[in-house]
Amino acid sequence: MADLTPTSDRPGLHVSKPSPSAPATASAVCHCGASATATGDAQVKALVDGYTANHGPAHDRR
Ligand SMILES: [Zn+2]
Repeated sequence: MADLTPTSDRPGLHVSKPSPSAPATASAVCHCGASATATGDAQVKALVDGYTANHGPAHDRR
């Protein structure tokens, strides 16, 4: 699992949900230097939405 965690060397977005009853966790690192982590389904969704809208692939559209 540690291999999937984004780092500044390997930017990306990773979401993990160990089991249906466990809260989701997410970590995101962007090549622009931004990074964030979230725990809990709602927080993870917000992180994913924000990262998708403002970082990662979104940089290519500017
Ligand atoms: Zn970014």
